[in-house]
Amino acid sequence: MIQFDVITLFPGMFLSPLQESILYKARQKGLVQIIVHDLRRFTYDKHNTADDKPYGGGPGMVMKVEPITTAVEHVRQTGIKTRVVLLSPQGVLFTQEAAQRLSTFQQIILVCGRYEGVDERVLNFVDEEISIGDYVLSGGELPAMVIIDTVARLVPGVVGDEASVHEDSFTNGLLKYPQYTRPATFRGLEVPEVLLSGDHERIKTWRRIEALRKTVIRRADLIERAWMSLTEQEKQFIATLRQSYNGDRP
Ligand code: SAM
Repeated sequence: MIQFDVITLFPGMFLSPLQESILYKARQKGLVQIIVHDLRRFTYDKHNTADDKPYGGGPGMVMKVEPITTAVEHVRQTGIKTRVVLLSPQGVLFTQEAAQRLSTFQQIILVCGRYEGVDERVLNFVDEEISIGDYVLSGGELPAMVIIDTVARLVPGVVGDEASVHEDSFTNGLLKYPQYTRPATFRGLEVPEVLLSGDHERIKTWRRIEALRKTVIRRADLIERAWMSLTEQEKQFIATLRQSYNGDRP
């Protein structure tokens, strides 16, 4: 079981996503607990001020350090493996590997920024800063949901067929092989014959080759990283594939 504690100025944003599909079922089964905390509850003044003008001038407002640290200290549990994450476009890029690492914690506290971001001193009270991509969103709520969804999928029992998680893109360093379902022919487009053959060994080999082909074409960077784990035969296949493109992509 993993517990996610989200600290946000906009708790209402989490209502619908937590009520649907896999996350809803995971919560019902007690595999995942998600508690959304309203940051304003941790403010000190009668106006529940959570932000203020930046020192030195400049546009917008900055989220204050005291309410955030008070909230983190309030929700952090003792005696269990806890991780405090600040969502930030300046953080380390979120990957499947990062999700796997986070899934080993029992409590993950997600701090959502807003406005111009948070007072830099907040960094002293979190374990890491995570970005979900090189673009700027209006707040950390959607990134927090991305992390919750990705990490929750890795909790045993959350995804109905566990094998599907192990075969997901990135899990073994490659993109997933192409998939098809009925009908076998659509507007002249045929499903590859091997998938209809019932020959599991051939299907397994085909899927591995197609996963390699897709990854070489779309994500050469992943191939470089997975290189050491590939067999000599697979490396040879990639070399031939690259030659067949005659210097063009890939
Ligand atoms: N002024 C900040 C900057 O330039 O780095 C951006 C602030 S952004 C408008 C407000 C908040 O949205 C951030 O504090 C962060 O919590 C969240 N956020 C925006 N983009 C994000 C991203 N790519 N990944 C994670 N969090 C993000």
